[in-house]
Amino acid sequence: MPLPGRLRKFFAFASLSLLLLVPFAPLLSGPPAKQASRVIVGAQVADGTGGPLRRANVRLTGDRITRVGNFRPRAGEPVVAADGLVLAPGFIDIHNHSSEGLAKDPLAESQISQGITTVILGADGESPWPIGEFVEKNRQAPAALNLAVLVGHATVRRKVMGDDYRRAARPEEIAEMCKLVEQGMREGAIGLSSGLEYEVGGYATTEEMVALARVAARFGGFYMTHIRDEADRMLEALREAIAIGEQARIPVEISHIKMGTVGVWGKAAEAIRLIEEARGRGVDVTADCYPYDAWASTITVLVPNKHYDDPASVERALADVGGAANVLLTECPKHRDYEFRTLEEIAKSQRISPVELFIQIVKDGEAGVVCRSMKDEDIRAFYQQPWVMVASDGGIGLRHPRAAGTFPKVLGRYVREQNWLSLPEAIRKMTSLPVQRLRWSDRGVLRAGMRADLVLFNPATVLDHSTFSHPGTLPEGIEKVLTNGVLVWDAGRATGARPGRVLGR
Ligand SMILES: [Zn+2]
Repeated sequence: MPLPGRLRKFFAFASLSLLLLVPFAPLLSGPPAKQASRVIVGAQVADGTGGPLRRANVRLTGDRITRVGNFRPRAGEPVVAADGLVLAPGFIDIHNHSSEGLAKDPLAESQISQGITTVILGADGESPWPIGEFVEKNRQAPAALNLAVLVGHATVRRKVMGDDYRRAARPEEIAEMCKLVEQGMREGAIGLSSGLEYEVGGYATTEEMVALARVAARFGGFYMTHIRDEADRMLEALREAIAIGEQARIPVEISHIKMGTVGVWGKAAEAIRLIEEARGRGVDVTADCYPYDAWASTITVLVPNKHYDDPASVERALADVGGAANVLLTECPKHRDYEFRTLEEIAKSQRISPVELFIQIVKDGEAGVVCRSMKDEDIRAFYQQPWVMVASDGGIGLRHPRAAGTFPKVLGRYVREQNWLSLPEAIRKMTSLPVQRLRWSDRGVLRAGMRADLVLFNPATVLDHSTFSHPGTLPEGIEKVLTNGVLVWDAGRATGARPGRVLGR
C-alpha cells in the first residue's frame, strides 16, 4: 500500500514545517494580528449540557467561543442580533450516510439546514476505503460541515473474503481483517461499525466481531452497530451487541434502536432493561434513535432468513411488518413506475399477490423501500432514556424524510408539539451526548474555549417539512449555522462557505 507511507511523509513534513515556522512567525510578520471577533447578542442559550436556557451574549473569535455571559460588545465589534432565538452547539449526527454525497454536494444544504455541523460517516458496516485516502480528499476539499469516519466491518470483510463471504471467516481471514481495521484506525478512523442484518456482515460470528472490536478498542475507538435483528429477535441481537462490548472492552453505540415488527411492538421496555442492566455492570452502552415510525433500507432486509424467493418466508415477512401496505418502494431501477407506491398498490394494479411481486422485484435486482413498522410508544420510550441520542441515519440524497428532517422534527414535534422531552434535554441529545460517545473535548457544549460550531433557531417555528413522497423538502426555523466560527447557513440558504474539518479521535 503506497498511501500510508505517503501520508506519514506528508504529516511528518507538515509538523516539521510547523516546528520551523512557529518560533519565527513573529519575526517574519510582526506581532500576530488580532483575530476578528463578533458577538451574538440576546439569544437564549441552550449550552448542550441539558441545563436550563439562559439569556447570554456569546463572543466568537476565529473558530472559538471566547466569552459567554452578560457582557457588552466592544465599540465597533460586529454583533448578530438573536432576540427570540435559541443558540445551541451545532448538532452532531453520529449516523449519517453522506460519504458519497459530500463529494458531489459539499455544501450539504439538506444537512446544515437541520443545524447539523458534524456528521459521522461509515455507519452500518460500510465505509469508504482506504480511510486515509478519504480523509485526505476531504481535507483537500472540505465541506460546509465537519466529518469523522468509522471503519466498516463489511468493507474490510469484503476486502479479505471477496465474493466468498457467505460463511464464517477462517482464523487467518479474521487476522487479516484485524490488520485492515488497524490500518483504518491508524489512518484516522474513530471506531468500527457493523451492519449484522445485511448481506456481507450478516455471516460474521460474534467471535469475529469481538476480535475486530478489540483492535478498534486498542486505538481508543468505539463500536457502532446495526444489530443482527431489529425484528422478532431484536432482544437477542441486543444481547450480542452488549456481549461484544463486554468481551472487547469497547464502548457500544446501538444504531437506530427500534422495535421493528408486530411481534415486538410495545416491548421497548424490555430492550431498555437489557441496556440498563449492562450499563449497571459497567458496559458503556448508548444508542441513537431517529424520529420516524418507518425505516428505509433494501427490500431484502424484510426477510430475515434470506430466502427471498420462498413464498412462505416472504409472506411471513410482510405480515411481520403489518402487511404490504406498510412497504413503500422508493427506489426501483428496473421499474421506475413502482417508485413511491406501496407493495400493496403495485400488486393490485398488476393483479398479482404482494408475495409474487416481492419475489419478482428481488429477482430483477435490489430495490429501496421505506417500511412503516414502528410504533410511536416505543419511539417515545427510547427518546426518554438519558442515554439515547438523536441521529438521522439519513444523509445527502437519501430517500427517506429523516434525510432532511430529523433534528427539526425532534425540536418541533417531540419537544414543542408533543412535550415528550424538554428543549434543553433534546439539545443535549444532539450535542454533548454524542460528543461524550466520541470523547471529544472541544465541541458539543457551548462554553468559552470550545470550537464555534453553533446553531441559532426559532423555537416557535422550527419544524421538518420532508415527507415520504418528498423526502428532500428542507425544514424551517433554523436561522443560522456556523461551523468552526464560519457562517454556513443563513436565512434559508447555504452561504457557500466550506470551513468543515476532518475530526479524529
Ligand atoms: Zn442501519
